[in-house]
Amino acid sequence: MKNPFDLSGRTALVTGSSRGLGFAIAKGLAEAGAAVVLNGVNTKRLADAAEELRNAGHRVEMLSFDVTDEKAVAAAFAELDARGIAVDILVNNAGIQYRKPMLELETENWQRVLDTNLTSAFLVGREAARRMVARGHGKIINIGSLMSDLGRATVAPYTVAKGGIKMLTKAMAAEWAELGIQANAIGPGYMLTDMNEALINNPQFDGWVKSRTPARRWGKPEELAGTAVFLASPAADYINGQIIYVDGGMSAVV
Ligand code: NDP
Repeated sequence: MKNPFDLSGRTALVTGSSRGLGFAIAKGLAEAGAAVVLNGVNTKRLADAAEELRNAGHRVEMLSFDVTDEKAVAAAFAELDARGIAVDILVNNAGIQYRKPMLELETENWQRVLDTNLTSAFLVGREAARRMVARGHGKIINIGSLMSDLGRATVAPYTVAKGGIKMLTKAMAAEWAELGIQANAIGPGYMLTDMNEALINNPQFDGWVKSRTPARRWGKPEELAGTAVFLASPAADYINGQIIYVDGGMSAVV
């Protein structure tokens, strides 16, 4: 029997894959056989990430663009078309965090977080899906969060954006499943990345994460890779519109 998790012959675009969870996901997809297109804004970081994966023997392309910029997103896909690259797997992962109590929150930062964490997934997803529909197949994986379902003080726009990601995933499934696309989401728990540096280094917060998470530890970025490979693979061909939490059990308990 053919390995149902094999991604050879497939190409994956992972947004925000110059570091953190996106990089770990891109690496996992590459290890499962996919060619990967890395994305980020900082071109130096992007080049370093690409080199690391190339040195490990993977097929890697780089495409630096801002996922919030509609014109840049369209230009990026035109560039992929010109390079003869068809995106079979899209991971909408790029995101930012901004922590501030809502009473003090500036409208500009509310909008910036929504643009980067939610509208981006629509913009990049739409471009990718137009091409996937023409080919009759495609996988979209949106990166949500525990905050797709749970609230927490000081992160209102992030919570709203990640709740939106869960519902955007369902909207994509509703419209595109019959066209051969499977859209699903992953909801990571508290993971060890740059985004959480201040929290990881804060003994009080670190203690809270460990006591609140049944696994009693933070997640490692590479622990998302298996779920991404699964959702990107033929093994998940009949899974549509779901969110899978990879959170050490945090969302299962109070
Ligand atoms: P990092 O801050 O470590 O990395 C963010 C990545 O996104 C970088 O590659 C960055 O590129 C890229 N990026 C940011 N803004 C843009 C933009 N406008 N256009 C293109 N790329 C951009 O974050 P994480 O790896 O921690 O998070 C990745 C995703 O996972 C996010 O959606 C986050 O919300 C989500 N998540 C993270 C959790 C965690 O605990 N870490 C938990 C739950 C969800 P550059 O290097 O150029 O800045």
